[in-house]
Amino acid sequence: MSDIETVETTSPEVAAVWDNVLGVVRSEVNEPTFKTWFSQATPDSFVSGTLRVVVPNDFTRDWMQDRYHGLVSSALRQVTGREAAVVFSVGSVSASIGSPDAEPESGLASTDARPSAAPTQEDDPQLDPSCTFETFVMGASNQFAYQAALAVAETPGVAYNPLFVYGGVGLGKTHLLKAIGNYAREHHPHRRVRYVTTEQFLNEFVRSIADKDRQRIEGFRRRYRMSDILLVDDIQSIAKKEGTQDAFFHTFNSLRDAGRQIVIASDRPPSEIPTLEERLRSRFASGLIVDVQPPDLETRIAILRRMADSERVPSGTTVPDDVLSFIAERVSSNIRELHSALLRVVFYGSYGKKAITLDLCEQLLRDIFPERSSRPISISTIQQEVCRFYGVNRADLVGSKRSQSFVYPRQVAMHLSRELTDLSFPRIGAEFGGRDHTTVMHATNKIQRLMGEHRDVFDQVQMLSGSIRQKS
Ligand code: ADP
Ligand code: MG
Repeated sequence: MSDIETVETTSPEVAAVWDNVLGVVRSEVNEPTFKTWFSQATPDSFVSGTLRVVVPNDFTRDWMQDRYHGLVSSALRQVTGREAAVVFSVGSVSASIGSPDAEPESGLASTDARPSAAPTQEDDPQLDPSCTFETFVMGASNQFAYQAALAVAETPGVAYNPLFVYGGVGLGKTHLLKAIGNYAREHHPHRRVRYVTTEQFLNEFVRSIADKDRQRIEGFRRRYRMSDILLVDDIQSIAKKEGTQDAFFHTFNSLRDAGRQIVIASDRPPSEIPTLEERLRSRFASGLIVDVQPPDLETRIAILRRMADSERVPSGTTVPDDVLSFIAERVSSNIRELHSALLRVVFYGSYGKKAITLDLCEQLLRDIFPERSSRPISISTIQQEVCRFYGVNRADLVGSKRSQSFVYPRQVAMHLSRELTDLSFPRIGAEFGGRDHTTVMHATNKIQRLMGEHRDVFDQVQMLSGSIRQKS
């Protein structure tokens, strides 16, 4: 491209012309049409009476060329007061060269070697290439989320829109978001994928309006509204600040109206994000909401196996199965922790040139999993921790009061006694005010069921079991 064109391309004058053109167009078409087709169109250059307008994809270009070319051209002539034409193109230069309405522009066609169908994908360093569907281990705990994410990656904007994935920390939400992005990269190279954390989105938005710089606001709008697939992570951190939810709401609407895919991740469901405005909550509910649960033992072992065989672990290092099981049995709720426990063992093994054995593993992880090496856990420690956690005294915990505020902690304590000690049901019953063994069995069954059904129960029991282990 010649210098002159470059100058013209970046001229704010082009933006002003386009703004005026949009004013005319807006009065001629209805609002949904305007939003759908014109909100993602941005002016690129205005050379020799030809305004180049960039649109996000071939489909939009053809559609606009077909239906709105006349309207836009005449608006342009009206605005500039001279003979002028418009060209719609995908990507920044001249996809529509040769279109009958474009004025032939000397030099442009011959110097621009980029094909009109050139991928418009920006390289997004945040789309960590190791996070793919292939490297994600599917199990009962995450299969719905996995399948929904894959469906969305295969047919963006069609399957579920938006897709909302929630679940506890370290359970693979970000991995799935990036897997969608990487999949689209590979299989739909013409689609623009944008991965962003909610915090980044909000920061960019705030910066774009802070200096009242039109170009910047435009840049922000364009970046987001031209995405074909927008992946928004950690939506729970959305702030209740004037304007920011507005910006997100409008971005969301304009993308969805245009059939673009939106995928959102959160550490909790929309109903539990207190700062989330109602209108956004209901938008999220209009798509598919899926959760990821903590993986079961089998899946944890499979994940560790996958990690141990991947390039995250130095080649030539072998990690025996009993070591993997040892770690998987003890780290139950967070995959990131599984990973760091494994790395710790692998690192010491290769650094100290020692074979990785169960012994080495037990030694190294003693401070993370103390129960193997220290005294057995006692029922009194369990009772003490449960009492502290729920704010009840020990007499009531083992006593006969049947109010829910005692029964529930009592059942949790019995369940933990069964999980963390080798004591039999009758022995545990004896420690809880001489109760029958069937009472203890009932309690453990009930808590297990509640843990499966309610995330907060699960979290409480996990937390308690961690603190009991530390105290022992
Ligand atoms: P979240 O976003 O839910 O907090 P991440 O997606 O960041 O969790 O996952 C934490 C780590 O665990 C990442 O390194 C990720 O690649 C890995 N991971 C999570 N789930 C799986 C899985 N099912 N299979 C393989 N790796 C996983
Ligand atoms: Mg995450």
